[in-house]
Amino acid sequence: MQRNHYVGPMRAEDLLVSTPAGLCCPSGGFYIDPVRPVDKALITHAHSDHARAGHGAVLATPETLDLMRLRCGDDCAGSMQAVRYGETVTIDGVAVTFHPAGHVLGSAQICLERGLRVVASGDYKDVPDPTCLPFELTRCDAFITEATFGLPVFRHGDPAAETRKLLHSVALFPERAHLVGVYALGKAQRLIALIREARYDKPIYLHGALEALTRYYVSRGVTLGELRLARDASKAELAGAIALCPPSAVKEVWSRRFPDPVTSFASGWMRVRARARQRQIDLPLVISDHADWDGLCATILATGAGEIWVTHGEEDALVHWCGSRGLAARPLRILGYGDEEEGSAAEPEPQETA
Ligand SMILES: [Zn+2]
Ligand SMILES: [Zn+2]
Repeated sequence: MQRNHYVGPMRAEDLLVSTPAGLCCPSGGFYIDPVRPVDKALITHAHSDHARAGHGAVLATPETLDLMRLRCGDDCAGSMQAVRYGETVTIDGVAVTFHPAGHVLGSAQICLERGLRVVASGDYKDVPDPTCLPFELTRCDAFITEATFGLPVFRHGDPAAETRKLLHSVALFPERAHLVGVYALGKAQRLIALIREARYDKPIYLHGALEALTRYYVSRGVTLGELRLARDASKAELAGAIALCPPSAVKEVWSRRFPDPVTSFASGWMRVRARARQRQIDLPLVISDHADWDGLCATILATGAGEIWVTHGEEDALVHWCGSRGLAARPLRILGYGDEEEGSAAEPEPQETA
């Protein structure tokens, strides 16, 4: 649709507004990743704080819908409609297109177009991930970016080098188990894939809370090698093994089945040494599914957007940085998004008893 020159140029706020329930497109009658139940929701990805149960109609990628059903049950929404990457759905005159966000399997940036183009990134990262499609840069007039790691101190470095640290420790301590805390959706499967890329081909053991999501990744063609459930293994078998579990399980009764475990945690927050110490983590691994400071800044510039809205995390520093680059920027301050890198997204991880 062409810009209407008689009433002046469209602005981003004419298409999308920030409300306590989340980003709302009044003319399309829908919300993006609403934090409260709404009639019509467009969902960027299946992390529990973005993909909540209880909406009327949900539009998302097929993978996101499958993952929502796995996590919240078949009846978690009134109705579900799948949209493929690159396919355009028109909702009351607003053209909606989903583009890969490189965050987790099925994750999307949502592009709205009517007179001008607005892209809501959802969570994203701009580095390769063997378990999902790469981030697709989408030029736009206004870009809504996440800011989980929106401080210059956050530079994630090379995930392959972090993975080698883990494998080096496994080689040094063949009699001990390595217990790695990972978020169940995305991080678990990416870390397994990184370990396989580093040519480690022994079985990798899983906490039961990671099983269903990991099996789903495998069913979608993601190669993860031989996986076993830790609860089926003897203590002797777990000597020298790598086991993945939700971050909270590292210090729980569940971990007692492992011989003298080395505790590890894979998260962007492990860049902060105090966090690793506080959690009593022996082997912090800086591996994140979110863009780091450099990634956020580079992506913002590359979109060509003149207007930047910042949400979900460290909003102020990024807003300030945008201002220094002559970009109009503002924080959205929507409450309700959790922090899956911390292992504490809004919804508790399913637990397995000892
Ligand atoms: Zn996420
Ligand atoms: Zn998020």
